[in-house]
Amino acid sequence: MFQKILIANRGEIACRIIATARRLGVATVAVYSEADAQARHVALADEAVAIGGPAPRDSYLRGDAIIAAAKATGAQAIHPGYGFLSENPDFVDAVEAAGLVFIGPSARAIRAMGLKDAAKRLMAEAGVPVVPGYHGDNQDPEHLAGAADGIGYPVLIKAVAGGGGKGMRKVTRAEDFAAALDSARGEAATAFGNDAVLIEKYVEKPRHIEVQVFGDGHDAVHLFERDCSLQRRHQKVIEEAPAPGMPDAMRAAMGEAAVRAARAIGYKGAGTIEFIVDASEGLRPDRFWFMEMNTRLQVEHPVTEAITGVDLVEWQLRVASGEALPLRQDQLAITGHAFEARLYAEDVPAGFLPATGTLAHLAFPEGARADTGVRSGDRISPWYDPMIAKVIVHGPTRAAALQQLSRALAGTQVAGTTTNLVFLGALARHPGFAAGDVDTGLIERDLTSLVAEPAPSVAVRAAALLASAAPLPAALPGFTLWAPLVRSLALRRGEEVTEGQLILRDGVPHVLLEGVEMPAPALPVIRAGDDIHVFSAGQCFSFTPVDPLAREASAGAAGNATLSPMPGLVKAVFVTAGQEVRAGDRLAILEAMKMEHTLTAARDGVVAEVLASAGTQVEAGAALILLAEEVPA
Ligand code: ADP
Ligand code: ADP
Ligand code: MG
Repeated sequence: MFQKILIANRGEIACRIIATARRLGVATVAVYSEADAQARHVALADEAVAIGGPAPRDSYLRGDAIIAAAKATGAQAIHPGYGFLSENPDFVDAVEAAGLVFIGPSARAIRAMGLKDAAKRLMAEAGVPVVPGYHGDNQDPEHLAGAADGIGYPVLIKAVAGGGGKGMRKVTRAEDFAAALDSARGEAATAFGNDAVLIEKYVEKPRHIEVQVFGDGHDAVHLFERDCSLQRRHQKVIEEAPAPGMPDAMRAAMGEAAVRAARAIGYKGAGTIEFIVDASEGLRPDRFWFMEMNTRLQVEHPVTEAITGVDLVEWQLRVASGEALPLRQDQLAITGHAFEARLYAEDVPAGFLPATGTLAHLAFPEGARADTGVRSGDRISPWYDPMIAKVIVHGPTRAAALQQLSRALAGTQVAGTTTNLVFLGALARHPGFAAGDVDTGLIERDLTSLVAEPAPSVAVRAAALLASAAPLPAALPGFTLWAPLVRSLALRRGEEVTEGQLILRDGVPHVLLEGVEMPAPALPVIRAGDDIHVFSAGQCFSFTPVDPLAREASAGAAGNATLSPMPGLVKAVFVTAGQEVRAGDRLAILEAMKMEHTLTAARDGVVAEVLASAGTQVEAGAALILLAEEVPA
C-alpha cells in the first residue's frame, strides 16, 4: 500500500477519498485553487499545495502543477477523483513518466473508451450488444441523414466526444434532421473541440442502467447495477441500486456483458459500463445496449458501496498499489436497497439555474450518509459544480430505503443559498417512482408538479416572527395582565411581507398572526446576521427584517442592462460598443451547469458598453452588456 497519495480534485469527492485513505493509514496531499484555500478538502488533508487561480484551467486542470506538487511532497500516487483530469490519457502518461502511479485505468484503456464511436465498434467486436446506429467516419450531412432514415426515427444524434449530456439531440422527424445536426455539431465544437457525431436509434421508454465493474489488469468482476433513470436533460438526479424490477436473468446478462467489456480492454481500476434499456415491455434480457464506458469512479458510486459493503476507493488504492482484486465474483452479493440524491445549489422554479451563496447553515440528519465538500460558513462559488452534497440511504427493501430517503431529505437543513431540496423531496414521494416505474422521461412529464415550491405555512411565518423578536424582553413596555400587548413584528421574504404581533402571556412569548395566537411552533430556526431561516419538511424559508429604505435603493438602474441570470462562464460575446441591435438578437453565450444559455437583447437599441469578455467568470446579476438610453429611429 502507498504511504502517501495526492488527490487531484476538490469538493466532496476529494473529501470522500481522504476518508478512506485515512482509514487505511495512507497520508494525503490536497491541491487547491485560490478560491478553495479555506475549503473542507484542504482542512481534511494532511498537507495541501496551492496550484493556481480559481478557473479550472489555471488549477485543477494543470497536470504539470499537480505532478510537481506530488513530487515536492513525496506522494507516490495520484487519485484523480471524477471530472477534471480523471479521463485524460495524456495526464496518465505524464504521471507515469514522472515515476508516479495513476490510481485508475491505463492511458490505453481511457483512449479506447474516450470516443463513443470507437468504443462502440470495440464493444461490438467483443460481443457486447450496442445501440443500433451509425458509428462510422463519414460525417457528410447527406450520408448521416441517410443513416438516420435507415435506422428509423426517432433517432439520437450524439457527439462522439460527448459527456455530461452535451452535443446530444433527439430527432423525431426526417425534416428536422439537418437543423438538429447543425446545432449538435455547434455545441460539440464549442464544448469538446470535436464536432464529429454518431447516430443512434432512440430507445423507447428508456431506462439508464449501468454496471459497476472493477479490474486488476488480469481479471475483472462486476458489482451489480445502478439505475440512473431519474434524469433531467440527460443529467442524473436520483440514483439507486439495485435497479427496480430487475429479473435475475437480465442482471446476469448485463453483468456478464459488462465484465466482457472490461476484459476486452484489460481494464484496471473502477469503471462503469452504461447501458440504455428499452423498458416498454418491462425489463428483458435482450433489451439492453452499451452506450458508453466511464473510465473512472462515478459520482453515484456510494449506492453500490451501500448494497455490496465494498469501499470502492479502498479497492482503487489496493489495486493501484499492485494487489489483486480483493473479492471474486462469487463472493459479491446484494444486500438491501440504496438511493442517492444529488443536492445542488440551484433555483428550481427559475428553471434549475445554478445558484451561489454562503452557507449560513448546513446540517444532515442522522441515519443517512452525506458526502459533502462544504460546511456551514463555506461559499458555493461560481467557479465549480454547485453540488452541495450527496445524500445516501440504505434499507432492507426498496420501499424502506425510499422512506428513509424522504425522511433524510426532509431533515436536511441548508440556509444561505437556494437548493433543489424540495424538488428532490417531491421526487422521493412521486407515486410512479415509488412503484419503480421509472424511465428517463419521468421528470419532464411531471415537471410542473415536481418543481412547485409550497409557500410558507402560518407555522413557518409564526416561527420566523418569534425568532425576529429575540432576545425577548423580560416584560414588554406597557405590559399588563389585562392587556397583554405589545410589539409589532414584520419580516420580508422576497416581495411578501409578513406582519404579526408579539404577545407575552404568563411570560411565554406568543405570536398573533392572521387572527390566530400561538406559541412558538416546533420548527428548527437559525439566525444568521439579520436573516432568519426556518426549516420545514426539507424546505428552508428565509426572512429578513423589513427595511423600507433598502428596498428603494435596489430598484431602478437595471433597465438598460443585460444581466447574467446565474453564475457562469461567458463563452462568447457577439456585440461591440456602438453596434445597433434588434430585440431578440444574440448578445452573448453564458455557460453554466454544463449547459449553454444564449442571452438576447430585450429591446431594439445601441450597445453603450460591453462589460464582459469571453472567458470571464461572472456572478448572478452581474451586468454584462449595457444599451444606450435612446432607441434608434
Ligand atoms: P456521472 O455520470 O458520474 O454522474 P456526469 O456525466 O454527470 O457524471 O458528469 C461527468 C463528469 O463531469 C462528472 O465526473 C462530474 O463530476 C463532472 N462535472 C459535473 N458538473 C461539472 C461542471 N459544471 N463542470 C465541470 N465538470 C463537471
Ligand atoms: P453522456 O456522455 O453525455 O453521459 P450518454 O451516451 O451516456 O452521454 O447518454 C446520456 C443520457 O442520454 C443517457 O443516460 C440517457 O438518458 C440518454 N440516452 C442516451 N442514448 C440514448 C438512446 N439511444 N435512446 C434514448 N435515450 C438515450
Ligand atoms: Mg453517460
